[in-house]
Amino acid sequence: MNQNAPEACIERVVAEIERMGGRAHLSRGQFRTIIGVVGEETTIDQNHLASLDGVEKVVPIMKPYKLGSREFHEEDTVVPVGGGKTPVVMIGGPHAACIAGPCTVENEQMLYRIAREVRAAGATVLRGGAFKPRTSPYSFQGLGLTALQWMRACGDELGMPIVTEVMDTRQVELVERYADMFQIGARNMQNFDLLREVGRTSKPVLLKRGLAATVKDWLLSAEYVLSQGNRNVILCERGIKTFEDSVRFTLDITSIPVVREWSHLPVIIDPSHSTGRREWVPAVAAAGMAAGAHGVIVEVHYCPAEALCDGPQALLPEKFAELMGQIRAIAALVGKTLA
Ligand code: PEP
Ligand code: MN
Repeated sequence: MNQNAPEACIERVVAEIERMGGRAHLSRGQFRTIIGVVGEETTIDQNHLASLDGVEKVVPIMKPYKLGSREFHEEDTVVPVGGGKTPVVMIGGPHAACIAGPCTVENEQMLYRIAREVRAAGATVLRGGAFKPRTSPYSFQGLGLTALQWMRACGDELGMPIVTEVMDTRQVELVERYADMFQIGARNMQNFDLLREVGRTSKPVLLKRGLAATVKDWLLSAEYVLSQGNRNVILCERGIKTFEDSVRFTLDITSIPVVREWSHLPVIIDPSHSTGRREWVPAVAAAGMAAGAHGVIVEVHYCPAEALCDGPQALLPEKFAELMGQIRAIAALVGKTLA
């Protein structure tokens, strides 16, 4: 729309888009509103839209993902996480954040102990799995609702928003009630019904890259969420399958500048699940921050040998505190502040 186009003109354009069978997505900037049109090219009459009052120009977006593209939304998206009894943590643009906690919630005492440690070191968002996607059906599957309740209480008490994985459309309502942010795991990146379902909620979504997904696939998955109206998506590079077998997965460091060029969405990295080994976590976390990530998500445990899940990759609290110092320094070098 033209700069300062009146509201009535914007409403008229939206009405015309809907009349032609399309959907309108408004992106309001300081001076200008951009209206994203999603629908069949054959039924949306571009010339007609261009002729409406207040329309500056109609620009076809050639990328297969539309709402997630930089063409639609030039400025970096900043996602607010939390609120209610916790502070709001901003992630995106100049705001970086560190999400930390156990892989999975094993019991109440361990959750609080780890949460206190990571908070003292500077983490601002707490992670912890209640529903775990395990390769074997005989492995620990998570404590479900009980874990969600402990996570909520712990987050509120320590003033940390919480993120936890949702694996199934049937869990969305429950997880939405407890969590500040949904995590969609790598194995569910193309669970399209699940993506649509979280897209209809008002909570932000942390979308992990699939084990064998291209950056384009990943952005199309984000598009499923965005197209349902939920604009708060944070991408997470967590490593992909390659022929290299010295690490658990290969963290694709290049995906960070690629995503940041193609999309306005924030992107963080997961050095825990990618390396699979605590010794290698700090180097990869530092590299990700230097490459332009908006933060990290890290697994921490005070007794990794006894962890029910992912012990070998869990950082000890003191190593995590050391890493926080490095991340903070690198964030400052690349023009970001760590929450
Ligand atoms: C996790 O974060 O606990 C997890 C299972 O991650 P991913 O989906 O990336 O494997
Ligand atoms: Mn894990």
